[in-house]
Amino acid sequence: RGFCGSPGQPAPLPVPQKIVATWEAISLGRQPVPEYFNFAHDVLDVWSRLEEAGHRPPNPAFWWVNGTGAEIKWSFEELGKQSRKAANVLEGACGLQPGDRMMLVLPRLPEWWLVSVACMRTGVVMIPGVTQLTEKDLKYRLQASRAKSIITSDSLAPRVDAISPECPSLQTKLLVSDSDSRPGWLNFRELLREAPTEHNCLRTKSGDPLAIYFTSGTTGAPKMVEHSQSSYGLGFVASGRRWVALTESDIFWNTTDTGWVKAAWTLFSAWPNGACIFVHELPRVDAKVILNTLSTFPITTLCCVPTIFRLLVQEDLTRYQFQSLRHCLTGGEALNPDVREKWKRQTSVELYEGYGQSETVVICANPKGMKIKSGSMGKAFPPYDVQIVDDEGNVLPPGEEGNVAIRIRPTRPFCFFNCYLDNPEKTAASEQGDFYITGDRARMDKDGYFWFMGRNDDVINSSSYRIGPVEVESALAEHPAVLESAVVSSPDPIRGEVVKAFIVLTPDYSSHDPEALTRELQEHVKRVTAPYKYPRKVAFVSELPKTVSGKIQRSKLRSQEWRK
Ligand code: ATP
Ligand code: MG
Repeated sequence: RGFCGSPGQPAPLPVPQKIVATWEAISLGRQPVPEYFNFAHDVLDVWSRLEEAGHRPPNPAFWWVNGTGAEIKWSFEELGKQSRKAANVLEGACGLQPGDRMMLVLPRLPEWWLVSVACMRTGVVMIPGVTQLTEKDLKYRLQASRAKSIITSDSLAPRVDAISPECPSLQTKLLVSDSDSRPGWLNFRELLREAPTEHNCLRTKSGDPLAIYFTSGTTGAPKMVEHSQSSYGLGFVASGRRWVALTESDIFWNTTDTGWVKAAWTLFSAWPNGACIFVHELPRVDAKVILNTLSTFPITTLCCVPTIFRLLVQEDLTRYQFQSLRHCLTGGEALNPDVREKWKRQTSVELYEGYGQSETVVICANPKGMKIKSGSMGKAFPPYDVQIVDDEGNVLPPGEEGNVAIRIRPTRPFCFFNCYLDNPEKTAASEQGDFYITGDRARMDKDGYFWFMGRNDDVINSSSYRIGPVEVESALAEHPAVLESAVVSSPDPIRGEVVKAFIVLTPDYSSHDPEALTRELQEHVKRVTAPYKYPRKVAFVSELPKTVSGKIQRSKLRSQEWRK
C-alpha cells in the first residue's frame, strides 16, 4: 500500500486540513517519513480525489498564460490525466525505466510541469536545466549525468544536436513544438495526444532518487545534487504553509526559470497545500510585464529573486492595483533592506525573505507574521538545526561570525541532498564534525535571527577587518544613483585588500561626473554604515556578471581584480 491508499482503493477521505497537517508534521520532522512515498500518487492524486469530493474551491491547480492571450488551466484531475499520458510517453516511446535519468530543459511551458510529474509516476529521475544553456553547458550536463533522454524546445534543439554525438548515454530526444518534426527527435505533443490515460504509478521508496539538480555555478563548475522522493516531496510542505503561507485558495506565481531549484520548491510547496501554481511564459524578464500580470490576474502570492525586486521598485508602483496580492517572498540572494522597504511602502505588502540551497530545502525563513528584522534572512526553519560554527565544526555563540551549518549527526535530516553525485571528495569536504557546511558566512543574534555576510570566498579581509559584501551593497542601494552593485576585494599594497564596488547607475545619474559621484557615494556609505566598510575603489559599469538565474557572480569580478 502507498502512503495514502493505493490506486483503485482510495482511503476514506478526511478533510483536506487533516491530510495536509499529516504531511506538515512529517515535513517538520515531528512524524517519521513513510517507507514508501511518491508525490504524484500520495499528494497529487489525493488532491484529485479531494477536489472531486468538493473539498477544494474551484481554483485551478495549474494556470499558465503566455501574455498574448493563450491560457491553460488544469484542475488536479486534469493534471493527473495529462501527466499519466506523459508517463506513458516516457515509458513507451522513450523506453525509460525507473532510475533512468532525463534532462528537462524547457522554457516556462506547461510541459515542464507535466513531464516533472510524469517522471515521478515512472520513477525516472528528472534533471532540470535552464534554457540559456550553451552547447558546452549541455554537453557537460549530459555527460556528467549520463541522461538517457532530453526534452527541450525548438530553440535548444540545434544545440543538443551539435553535441549529442559526444553524449553516448543519450538515447531519445523529445521536442516540445507545434511545428514540423525534426530528424532524430520525437514530437512530444503528438505523442501526448495519442497516449493512453491509464497508468499505474510506480511504488517508490521514500529514499529513491527523485531529481538531480546542478547548482547555480556561482562559485565554480555546477555540482550535481541528488534529492530523494521524500526530500523534496515532503520537505517543502511546512515552509509552503508557513513561509509561503499557501492554502487551497491561493494562486502562487514564482517567476523563476524552470531549471532552478526554485521552480521545484514552488511545485513542492504549492501542490501539497492545494494551492494553484500560476506561470507566465515570460520570454524575458520585463518589469512592466510582471506588474501588469499582477494587476490582471488574481495572483495572491508572488515570489521573485531580489534582482527582479530591484527592477520592480524602480517603477512607479502606485500606478498599479494589485487587488489580490497579499503575500510576497524572495530568496536565492540577499535582499537589500532598502528594496524591501520601497516595495512595502508602495504596495503595502511585506516582503518575506528565505534562504536555502540546491542541497537543502528552506534553511532560514521569515514565516508569515513573524517579526521581520530588516536585513536578516530570518530564523532556522525546522526540521533543520542551523548553527554558526567555526572551521572545526564547533558551535559559536550568538553574535559571532562563522559558517552557516546544518546538523547532520546523529540524524541526517530526511529533507537533504543525498550527495554530490560522483564526487565523494566534494561531499566529504562539505561536512565538518556533526555539521554540513553551507559555504556561507553569517551571524546569529540572541533571538535566533541569521544575518548573512556573504559566501565564504566573498568576505573581504581589509587590514584584518572582515567585511561582508552584502552590507556594503545594501548601504549603496540606499543611494538614488545606485541601481545595483557588487562589492569585492581588490589588492592593496598596504591593507592587503580593500573594498571595491562595481556600480550600475540608475538612468537619472548615468551622465553625472564619475569622480564627484564616487566621492558622494563613498561619503554616503560612511554615513549609513561603519565607515571602515566604505569602498575605497569604485567602478561604474553598465552591467554586473550574473548566473543565468540572476545571481551576481562576485567571484568573476574578484578574479579580474586580482589578475590585474
Ligand atoms: P554554486 O554552489 O554552484 O556556486 P550556488 O550556491 O549559487 O552555486 P544555489 O544552490 O542555487 O547555487 O544557491 C544557494 C546559495 O544562494 C546559498 O548558498 C547562498 O549563498 C545564496 N542564497 C540563497 N538565499 C539567500 C538569501 N536569502 N540571502 C543570501 N544569500 C542567499
Ligand atoms: Mg552553492
